[in-house]
Amino acid sequence: MLDFSDYPVIDNHCHGIYQNQAFVDVSQWRGLFTESSHPDMQSSHAASSLFYQRFMRTLAKLYNVENSEHAVLEARNRRSLNEIIAISLAQSGLSAVLVDQGYPPRSQLVADNVFTQPGGIQTYPVLRLEPLMEEFVRRYARVETVYDAWHAALEDLRGQGYYGLKSIAAYRTGLKIRRWSQDAVSASFAQARDAVRRTGTVRLAHKPLLESLLWIAFDYANEAELPVQFHVGYGDADCDLRLGNPLHLRAVFEQDTLQRMPVVLLHECWPFTREGAHMAAVYKNAYLDLSYGIPFLGYQEMLAFTKAAIGVAPLSKLLYSSDAVGLPEMYWHSVVVGKGIIARALSDAVDAGDITTGTAEKAGLAVLADNARALYRL
Ligand SMILES: [Zn+2]
Repeated sequence: MLDFSDYPVIDNHCHGIYQNQAFVDVSQWRGLFTESSHPDMQSSHAASSLFYQRFMRTLAKLYNVENSEHAVLEARNRRSLNEIIAISLAQSGLSAVLVDQGYPPRSQLVADNVFTQPGGIQTYPVLRLEPLMEEFVRRYARVETVYDAWHAALEDLRGQGYYGLKSIAAYRTGLKIRRWSQDAVSASFAQARDAVRRTGTVRLAHKPLLESLLWIAFDYANEAELPVQFHVGYGDADCDLRLGNPLHLRAVFEQDTLQRMPVVLLHECWPFTREGAHMAAVYKNAYLDLSYGIPFLGYQEMLAFTKAAIGVAPLSKLLYSSDAVGLPEMYWHSVVVGKGIIARALSDAVDAGDITTGTAEKAGLAVLADNARALYRL
């Protein structure tokens, strides 16, 4: 059995850390472990998932308390954010993180240098596109002004300090991204502005407008050879999972003028891991992210998707992540679980006669850190 516990790790997709780490209400805490917004799911069912059971047992060990929600939450609530970071994140072995700047809202988070301070974890920002679109649609009454602002925001992305872009189109209008006439975009913009007038804000699910802005962003990403991460598959209850299948991205991959834009398919495209791995096998600019924090899956299912991925995609196309949000322990827990599962899957590939032990060791290093370092030019 291979052992990657001393390997460095680059987490190619995660989010910021909550300022407030105190959870007095158990339902609020459990609510962090489900994508469902229904109160019954949060207060009750979420706690019986395999992921939650493992996570809580691991935390009980970490804080050296009995295995109960009450004891774990009490142990956490007694500690400051810095103490929680020191006991978990700083011990994670992470060497770098790529942080999605668009979720959760910045007002709930501590600054990203929280990663850098205790464990010396390098931090690289990723620009989430849809919140920026929404800001411009809120701010400007004319579609031409939105376009001007959009172009200006995407100029010299590397110079602005970004290491990647991220799209959540899958959550909003699906991944079947197509070209639209100017008339369709204008009509779509008028509807979005109507929402702004009525509510003061807009949740951009206006397909022609969103997709026309995405194509512009892709041109800039291609020019800068900057990776674009797509949320794929699994997600919030408001997403139609059928439209989150990575096969819908074919039009983007087939676009001649976007061949220098690397595309990272996030969350192992779960449950469409095989489809995502296939795309990483057929399109030179397609990469598959393997995430061990979120989606909230049991060990066997994580092992299954890892085996599916390594069985299909080139090993040079796979990237480790946590997709952790808010809780310092989640980044650490994902590293521990992910390293073990990747080692297990590659060991089984050695036993099956696919690869040698030497190749498997190199593949472990590649998936955990080297592939991300090369792809994002860290
Ligand atoms: Zn995420």
